[in-house]
Amino acid sequence: MKEQKNHIDQLYGLIHTDVEGIDDLLELALNIRWSWNHASDKLWQQLDPELWKLTQNPWVILQTVSRDRLEGHLNDPEFRAKIKSLLNENEKALSAPNWFQQNYAKTQLKCVAYFSMEYMLSEALPIYAGGLGNVAGDQLKSASDLGVPVVAVGLLYAKGYFRQEIDKFGSQNALFPHNDPGQLPVTPLRLPNGEWLRIKVSLPGHPLWLRTWQVQVGRSKLYLLDSNDAANLPLHRGITDELYGGGPDHRIKQEIVLGIGGYKLLKALNIQPEVCHMNEGHAAFLVLERASDFMKMNGTSFERALAVTRAGNLFTTHTAVAAGFDHFSPMLMEQFLGQYAKNELGIDFNDLMALGRADSNNHWESFNMAYLAIRGSGAVNGVSRLHGEVSRNLFRNLFKRWPIQEIPVGHVTNGVHMPSWDSEYADKVWTAACGKDRWRGELDDHSAHISKLSDGKLWEFRNQSRNRLVDFIRERFERQAIVSGLPSEVVEIADQVLDPDTLTLGFARRFVPYKRPDLLLYDPERLVRILTNSEHPLQLVLAGKAPPFDEAGKGLIQKWAQFIQQHNLYRHVLFLSDYDMLLTENLVQGVDVWLNTPRRPWEASGTSGMKVLVNGGLNLSELDGWWAEAFTPEVGWALGDGQEHGDDPALDAAEAIALYEILEQQIVPEFYSRNKKGIPEQWVGRMRKSMATLTPRFSTNRTVREYTEQFYLPAAEKYKRRAAKKGAAGKRILDTQNELMKRWDTIKFGKVQIESERHKHHVRAPIWLNGIDPKHIQVELFAEGVNGKTPERNTMKFDWMGEEGQHNFYAQVITDRPIDHYTVRIAPNYEGVSVPLENNLILWQH
Ligand SMILES: *Cc1c(COP(=O)(O)O)cnc(C)c1O
Repeated sequence: MKEQKNHIDQLYGLIHTDVEGIDDLLELALNIRWSWNHASDKLWQQLDPELWKLTQNPWVILQTVSRDRLEGHLNDPEFRAKIKSLLNENEKALSAPNWFQQNYAKTQLKCVAYFSMEYMLSEALPIYAGGLGNVAGDQLKSASDLGVPVVAVGLLYAKGYFRQEIDKFGSQNALFPHNDPGQLPVTPLRLPNGEWLRIKVSLPGHPLWLRTWQVQVGRSKLYLLDSNDAANLPLHRGITDELYGGGPDHRIKQEIVLGIGGYKLLKALNIQPEVCHMNEGHAAFLVLERASDFMKMNGTSFERALAVTRAGNLFTTHTAVAAGFDHFSPMLMEQFLGQYAKNELGIDFNDLMALGRADSNNHWESFNMAYLAIRGSGAVNGVSRLHGEVSRNLFRNLFKRWPIQEIPVGHVTNGVHMPSWDSEYADKVWTAACGKDRWRGELDDHSAHISKLSDGKLWEFRNQSRNRLVDFIRERFERQAIVSGLPSEVVEIADQVLDPDTLTLGFARRFVPYKRPDLLLYDPERLVRILTNSEHPLQLVLAGKAPPFDEAGKGLIQKWAQFIQQHNLYRHVLFLSDYDMLLTENLVQGVDVWLNTPRRPWEASGTSGMKVLVNGGLNLSELDGWWAEAFTPEVGWALGDGQEHGDDPALDAAEAIALYEILEQQIVPEFYSRNKKGIPEQWVGRMRKSMATLTPRFSTNRTVREYTEQFYLPAAEKYKRRAAKKGAAGKRILDTQNELMKRWDTIKFGKVQIESERHKHHVRAPIWLNGIDPKHIQVELFAEGVNGKTPERNTMKFDWMGEEGQHNFYAQVITDRPIDHYTVRIAPNYEGVSVPLENNLILWQH
């Protein structure tokens, strides 16, 4: 906390720095804990109600407020006391020993560095596009809540991702308003001597200077880099202009900034993470820079440095299709990293390329960032159970001859940061049931407490929530209708659209074909009938951006606009423009049902549906991503049969019809079937079950604890062990690897001998290892798993030495399976190396 007192020295663009008492307000404004802990909202509102409503950005308020007004409030003892008490509360929350400190006081893990191309933390800091940023932002907030020592690294974009306007014809226009860094809740990162820390990265022809910034996220820090430094070539100043804009050469520069620049930034701050976590392959160049740094510090080769440091790297993949990975052509790689390979890594350019290729001999093959991430990591995971499976398929060609179940990609299912997405009403309900600190430790008791909530209470909560959403939408839609020039008949009714008592369905996401945002439009007449049913109506709120150059996606938005216009459905269906965090917050807090219709298995996880859980909303979704593991009939509704069908239009048609049937026969009747007290009992029961069982499971509290226990802690131990004595273990690993590589193909099996009894087989395998140390391998009796279960692996023991180097291995298995289910195989096993991730050799008996 003390260092924050220096904020005034570090500020960028604030005028009233000399006003008495301003530093306390600054401290509050610059810790974006306000984005999830709303205790300070009233203060900002008092300073400027209008601006607060529009921006939700305390920092902008402090910048624009008049001196008189500021002084007026700061002279009010009550206002000052409120600030003090909030600061105390912050301090208490941020310094209390949390879950991590209580459970892992003695660990080697002191720092995890998290790298991501985007962060969705607050609408006041628009450096995100969507789901990936949501995952990064919510996990960072939970790391702060739990006390897990994470620092995050990202880019500060001058324009970020595009903002959306929809004109009166339903066409999407992409806008790129400039983010003035002076108005963002960020501060320049200054060295103790006051110098603004700048990072130098070599680009061909000219060095690139990166300015550095810091964001305080609760107790965690996010460091950001931007290229708009006066010393840079004009060509380079715009590298961090747009998120996901430009072509491959723009992208490779951004990824160099993130991976290489980001690691150099940590180095400049003297931060030495044991673990680096790559959120998607964009950040994979950090693998190279981290190894390069180890090389220089310890005087080792690049290969050895990589063998050591990769144990401390974790790669999380988010992609469900091969086309989703970033690829760079050999020419582009040569241009930007040719010199780097030679000068910084001391390796041949082709050896660098081999790290990003499936086939290292194929000189035409482009460089795949996900492959580099895999070759540079000690563990890899997907973001839901199903996505783990999908990813094992996507990466199987890096692990040839290995069974699919053993492709080394696990999964940690995503979650969301509940305090960021819960409404004021939800906060009250949950606080009464589970206490104030409910998301800061373990969640074991929440289900039981929530299960006790009464029907009346839950239904009141739901009605309040829907009411508030309708108010929000009317105001927002009125503005939108006027700005986009909708006919005056529509503008006139804009403040009466929707109905606070009608069943409300929400659908907001990227408008791309695989998400099938037009599935509901398959039979427009039928949808109109559902919407306008006089007794049991349904209303729909939609939002979403199509990628700026995706005509198909933009067409889908237009299709909805036309549907609404043709059938004059403005009172029942609204398409709200500029889907962002603020809009999400309002939607997920108010809707009764959240709809999601992706084509399985293309939604790696999806997170928007998780945001309704805490607010008592229910999910109706394709059995894909997280919903494939969350769904049971008591908590919501499922579309599809849980199988993959590609993009077969016949299947889309069948699912559209199923969707109408679920709405007509289940959802609508259940919502409107009321008891004597006017409560839909079954509906409320479903809400209770969904809140109680799913909210804890799909919160980032659970996700971050899983990452910590399954990945960060073991990775830190492993890295420390390998790094000791200037990476001595790295040398042993390489030596063994070389020995195995050289001799692997000369290993020979003799005749395997089998003796079978009832329920038991004895297997003896004579093997000629041709000089390989039997301690460096593992001989196994292997059988495929039955019905998709994990394979059976029985270690065969070295038994006795025959003549001429014949090693005899033996195992007995107790089983009812016939012996021909079993095969002998040999895999590497040495120095705690993770097989097959770090060494994919394998030899099968047949
Ligand atoms: C939650 C969220 C997402 C992610 O949603 P999915 O469609 O579930 O992947 C994207 N954009 C915004 C603005 C969000 O709030």
